[in-house]
Amino acid sequence: MLPETMDAWVVDAQAPGLRRQRLPLPACGPNDLLVKVRACGVCRTDLHLVDHELGRPQRPVVPGHEVVGQVLALGEQARGWRIGQRVGIPWLGGTCGACPYCGGGQENLCDHPVFTGRDRDGGYAGYCVADARWCLPLPEGYDDIHAAPLLCAGLIGFRTWRMGQGAGGPAPRRIGIWGFGAAAHLVCQLAVAHGQEVHAFTRDGDLRAQAFARRLGATWAGGSSDEPPQLLDAALIFAPVGALVPAALAAVRKGGVVVCGGIHMSPIPSFDYDLLWGERTLCSVANLTRQDGLDFMALAGRIALKVQVQPFPLDQADIAVARLRAGEIDGAAVLVP
Ligand SMILES: [Zn+2]
Ligand SMILES: [Zn+2]
Repeated sequence: MLPETMDAWVVDAQAPGLRRQRLPLPACGPNDLLVKVRACGVCRTDLHLVDHELGRPQRPVVPGHEVVGQVLALGEQARGWRIGQRVGIPWLGGTCGACPYCGGGQENLCDHPVFTGRDRDGGYAGYCVADARWCLPLPEGYDDIHAAPLLCAGLIGFRTWRMGQGAGGPAPRRIGIWGFGAAAHLVCQLAVAHGQEVHAFTRDGDLRAQAFARRLGATWAGGSSDEPPQLLDAALIFAPVGALVPAALAAVRKGGVVVCGGIHMSPIPSFDYDLLWGERTLCSVANLTRQDGLDFMALAGRIALKVQVQPFPLDQADIAVARLRAGEIDGAAVLVP
């Protein structure tokens, strides 16, 4: 028997912050899975949502888009899953299927997307529902808590890293990563597994994060004001700090690529054209496609990423968010109902 209500956290339009609330169990639509949440990662995007930096929510919404759960029920048109199966629910929770982006293989840029934990209630709760067509299988070899960060930190990190492979020219060997949090700690291992050298840039003086990066195979680790010992082939920025963009451009070689992997960034200061000249590329990564999800989960199944997690009980979601904000999490914070 399912309970009628559940514990949850919501963000509402009135004021920034997370609020604890008892909610009715969500109703399972025709294409949905009803899922018992086993673990839900805390992503930096959740911080931006809580702070209203992505706008005020239209209605109170449950954040959380790195949801690992167990299927309890299927809507009458939901296919491809069965009761009891483990399922992953990522940020992209639906697309329109009709816009030029959906038609052109760029569903991550859909004009009318549905995002988990922003447009649909997410996993900071005991239960949630998700459209079965956007749910992802998770690789074996990761328990629920360690699988959760794969669903955004891993996935967006993967898309960012793949975009950093550049278009033509010599294949990138030296990668710089700015902001050594949940995404970076996975991307670092991905790059090392592909024979690349990783240069990790942390907050200045954050020796703990620098040591963490070296433990994960980074060749070099320093502060964001430091210059790398050599020019880099690609720079991946995960910290939401616009001032890092000119710094990263200055650190890449001709033809190099700078990819911004976050959903929000402080303003980018103006910089000399010299930094972009030489066919350097500056771009961003937005969301993910289902194919990214399938590709990344297959890769994660092959290379056995060491996922560093800090679990928190669901009723301490506010504490987990505060710790992430303070830069006190090595790897990824994960809520466990
Ligand atoms: Zn669309
Ligand atoms: Zn995320």
